Amino acid sequence: MADCIFCKIAAGEIPSKKAYEDDQILAFYDLDPQAPVHILIIPKEHISSANELTEENGPLLGHIFAAAAKLAKELGLEKGYRIVNNCGEDGGQTVRHLHFHLLGGRSMEWPPG
Ligand code: 5GP
Ligand code: ZN
Repeated sequence: MADCIFCKIAAGEIPSKKAYEDDQILAFYDLDPQAPVHILIIPKEHISSANELTEENGPLLGHIFAAAAKLAKELGLEKGYRIVNNCGEDGGQTVRHLHFHLLGGRSMEWPPG
């Protein structure tokens, strides 16, 4: 989609530090990391937000979560991790291309224990 920053990253028109890529998805490091590991996982196909998902996207979502689990294993997140999706304005979504944040390498427990 024209003027979508994550479509441009998926197409290689804007550089990113890649963590994983295949024909369906791209995982790349967030520019402003909120944890020692902060990766964004996106479908290469433009989907604006989780609000646009349908039953037909089930295999894509399974693929994204399987890739997250594989990355977590490769990156040593054996103590766990968080996957976040911000959806829409009130959900805090700033980039209107579906993405999942994979966060790890520190405790996400709240209140800190
Ligand atoms: P959202 O707030 O939409 O859930 O998350 C968007 C995320 O994309 C933010 O964490 C932000 O740091 C990240 N981001 C925005 N623009 C870029 C970019 O050009 N490159 C990378 N690697 N991350 C970006
Ligand atoms: Zn897009």
